[in-house]
Amino acid sequence: MHELSICQSLLNQVEGIARQYGARAVGRVLLQVGPLSGLEPALLQSAWPLVAAGTIAETAELVIEAAAIRVRCLDCDAESTATANRLLCGACGGYHTRLLSGDELLLARLELSIPDADSAQAKDVSATESTREASETTHV
Ligand SMILES: [Zn+2]
Repeated sequence: MHELSICQSLLNQVEGIARQYGARAVGRVLLQVGPLSGLEPALLQSAWPLVAAGTIAETAELVIEAAAIRVRCLDCDAESTATANRLLCGACGGYHTRLLSGDELLLARLELSIPDADSAQAKDVSATESTREASETTHV
């Protein structure tokens, strides 16, 4: 299953970022999946718990959004959105277009639980955790 290895490399990325921020848990993983990536969001959803089990991302919720398809027209140089089966220029209707995005897997957002290391502010806040966001892009 292709999606299983995709989830594995996604998990590696998530773990790397979590380590970098000193996080102790991962709350939510927001993925944008391009319609032209050939990946099945449903299969990614079912593969994710299998690879995340026993890791820092074990309880993380995987949220998948469809990424937009964008093309640049080679005739009029306009950038526009397109649909998966009609990669036409939105400005002039030409079909000499180059794909800008829509075939990628993007780790759009990551919500991390990070223990608050700043003791000077500890009395002002009741929470001991903060949520930070990080962004990474993966092309598949
Ligand atoms: Zn055009």
